[in-house]
Amino acid sequence: MIAGLIGLLSFSQKIDKIINAAEADRIERILSADDMQGRKTFTPGIDKAADFIAAEFAKSKLQFFNNSSSYFQEIVMTKAKPVEISGMLDTEPLNTGNVAANTTAGHLHIGSLKDYGLVVVKKEDDFNKTVFPLFDNEKNLVILVDTVHARRFKSMQRFAGNAKFTSAVSQIFILTANLNPAAIQLHIKNELTEQRLKNVVGVIPGKSKKDEYVVFGGHYDHLGIGKPDANGDSIYNGANDDAAGTTAVMMLAKYFSALKNNERTLIFVAFTAEEIGGYGSRYFSKQLNPDKVMAMFNIEMIGTESKWGTNSAYITGYEKSDMGKILQANLAGSKFHFEPDPYPKQNLFYRSDNATLAALGVPAHTISTSKMEQPPNNEPNYHKQSDEIGTLDMNNMAEIIKAIAISSKTIVSGKDTPTRVEKEK
Ligand SMILES: [Zn+2]
Repeated sequence: MIAGLIGLLSFSQKIDKIINAAEADRIERILSADDMQGRKTFTPGIDKAADFIAAEFAKSKLQFFNNSSSYFQEIVMTKAKPVEISGMLDTEPLNTGNVAANTTAGHLHIGSLKDYGLVVVKKEDDFNKTVFPLFDNEKNLVILVDTVHARRFKSMQRFAGNAKFTSAVSQIFILTANLNPAAIQLHIKNELTEQRLKNVVGVIPGKSKKDEYVVFGGHYDHLGIGKPDANGDSIYNGANDDAAGTTAVMMLAKYFSALKNNERTLIFVAFTAEEIGGYGSRYFSKQLNPDKVMAMFNIEMIGTESKWGTNSAYITGYEKSDMGKILQANLAGSKFHFEPDPYPKQNLFYRSDNATLAALGVPAHTISTSKMEQPPNNEPNYHKQSDEIGTLDMNNMAEIIKAIAISSKTIVSGKDTPTRVEKEK
């Protein structure tokens, strides 16, 4: 009885010593400082943030992930800029005006419609729902898009020009009224540039269940520098989005490293490129076997009070696994409570870095306090220059991080295993 009580006391003292408002403030202040320039992908600001996160992981004595020689998980992306597009679809000339290519190839030549799979986007088709999923297709495709979609086609052309994962296949979109052609001749020449990104990943190997992973993640990229607002502020500091989640990941790493009693392997990851398409988490999910990931905690915007006030947060996709119930049970008797996501219409489960692992069946949920209703029940600083540390509640944030640490303990120890999320087909 007494021994148990002492154990409990030292546990709670230990957690307060490591996870507290002063430490949250220290890390937040560095990540959201103006000299990080808004941590935009492909800028020096985000590299500076990555160096800081890696240095903190080293202080927490995390190991490298897999066979990596550093905490950086490098991602090479390719940007293909069309310098020449020429050819014919039957008698219609093809050029930069009516062709868009989702490709990372320097040269493409199509001499027959048989070489590529054919997809037709008709007048009545929903453009966005039909076209954008094709960007992830694993086959060579020619997609004929009815000219009724001309305006959307133009904005899609810009999107197609963004940097992407290097791929062996291409999707070629052609805006045309001829949806049943007999012949094609198409030549595309691209100027290729490599763009590099990196996640920051650290590991605490499990004592007995090394092959069972629990992932704690948050994205460290944000929107960079834009036009000055009314106060002359041009830097999107992203203190809440998502320096807050990144701070949580770093503090949880420090905590579990000090505890040294995790039976499962813990993986801590600061994702890059969430704001431009979730490339960091998409890459990460391919570097490990998702069947070995027992749970993923994605932490996104926890710097403000939730709609229920302090000492509370919500879990996205709550009903998709029983992870939320496990977390709630571990918090029984405490002042803190988790709730199911109160904004289901916002599709938050599919809008953050948990989504790729969840699609692969992992109980991967986002924990957040961000208010997503209409003003005044929203986050007034969301995606604005004013998302700064002064608008955050560090005491509450520390309580949320503590709640994640405490509520995850039976998952970390291997006692509880959340049910799987239904895989996406
Ligand atoms: Zn975010």
